[in-house]
Amino acid sequence: MISTIDLRGGLPADLRATLPRADFDVEAALEKVRPICEDVRHHGVEAVIRYTRDFDGVELTSTRVPAEAIAAALEALDPAVRDALEEAIRRTRIVHREQRRTDVATQVVPGGTVTERWIPVDRVGLYVPGGRAVYPSSVVMNVVPAQEAGVPSLAVTSPAQKDFGGLPHPTILAACALLGVDEVYAAGGAQAIAMFAYGTRECAPVDLVTGPGNIYVAAAKRTLKGVIGIDAEAGPTEIAVLADATADAAYVAADLISQAEHDTLAASVLVTDSPELAAAVGDELAVQVAATRHVERVTEALAGRQSAIVLVASIEDGLRVVNAYGAEHLEIHTADAPAVAARVRNAGAVFVGAYSPVSLGDYLAGSNHVLPTGGCACHSSGLSVQSFLRGVHFVEYDRAALAEATARVVALAESEDLPAHGAALKARFDGGIPA
Ligand code: NAD
Repeated sequence: MISTIDLRGGLPADLRATLPRADFDVEAALEKVRPICEDVRHHGVEAVIRYTRDFDGVELTSTRVPAEAIAAALEALDPAVRDALEEAIRRTRIVHREQRRTDVATQVVPGGTVTERWIPVDRVGLYVPGGRAVYPSSVVMNVVPAQEAGVPSLAVTSPAQKDFGGLPHPTILAACALLGVDEVYAAGGAQAIAMFAYGTRECAPVDLVTGPGNIYVAAAKRTLKGVIGIDAEAGPTEIAVLADATADAAYVAADLISQAEHDTLAASVLVTDSPELAAAVGDELAVQVAATRHVERVTEALAGRQSAIVLVASIEDGLRVVNAYGAEHLEIHTADAPAVAARVRNAGAVFVGAYSPVSLGDYLAGSNHVLPTGGCACHSSGLSVQSFLRGVHFVEYDRAALAEATARVVALAESEDLPAHGAALKARFDGGIPA
């Protein structure tokens, strides 16, 4: 069901290229997505409604979700789901509240200060996927950091659902209600991102769009970057597990299956120095996959070129492999898991020990689940309060401090052949720079 890559003979020089990865060719989707974005730019909500009919099979008269529908969804919410969402919101909020930044004022010279102020983005658009599966948890993961950052205006969009009268899924609406979000749209895919970027008669344009989605969402974010800010492009989900002979094969198999359940392109990768564990996980997968609800999707994901068991000579080599891979989610199941985890450099989020599975992080750990995929963990972070803030330098020098800096500014400006820069300072001092 799952292939094996044997690296026990030594790690290849180009390790990253050897490791399995999903085909998620955003470039190829750009051609399809650009005309959709242009159409929404020129024809606004009418274009969004047209694409919703074509792609989601829903005939809308408006993209804006009425307040009564949001309230009714909360009213009808299963009490157990409500309790779980409320606790997820509470835990996510306490973690993200700690991420708030404080302004830092630095006195550079007497009379000269630079203050870095953290200012929230004015208006954000949060994308909550809703094609194959619905993700009320993604409402929490997008909205909470934006709220904790102090964003004054935020809107949520999620695809219109045929089975729910053209509204987004009711649990998504209920999650919005629990978070106090009242601006919600029924729109998905590239047209939703373009709606946020250019604005329509129903939706004011936003400054920043965050949230995961399929290839069309990722391609639209890439196309419109610049018109709007975006978070990291999030592709199909990934789990890597670094495990030794002490790991419990049943737990490891269950966790590999849990992420494979998202998507046929989802990646499940086990890296181990124990051939015995690899064999036991293989046996467990056969048993557990047969019993799982989404057996076809899981089987396809595990059999895909993006999933594998990677055999290594040592946990030391295993660390090199997982650092080269840069998984969205990385679990550590080794004898001294915290010590091994401390040496991880590249991962979207790290789950330490047998009792910190990714599923906990997907919903209730308090951590954020909107994470970089496709190896982007090597340069990007998951969603956080920081994603919604800009650090702005406020420069304040008095006359004496500027006078003291002038000769050096003039020297540097002359060296760049930009004499007007120096002149701008000299103009402030009649009769030359004071001694
Ligand atoms: P989605 O909401 O991203 O996409 C659905 C929309 O795609 C539809 O509304 C439709 O308008 C558009 N679409 C469908 N077919 C199209 C076509 N042929 N041409 C143009 N547009 C089309 O939902 P999804 O498809 O279920 O994808 C969700 C993705 O998000 C999954 O890959 C999942 O793994 C990922 N995800 C990632 C994270 C993360 O943090 N990385 C979290 C949750 C979900």
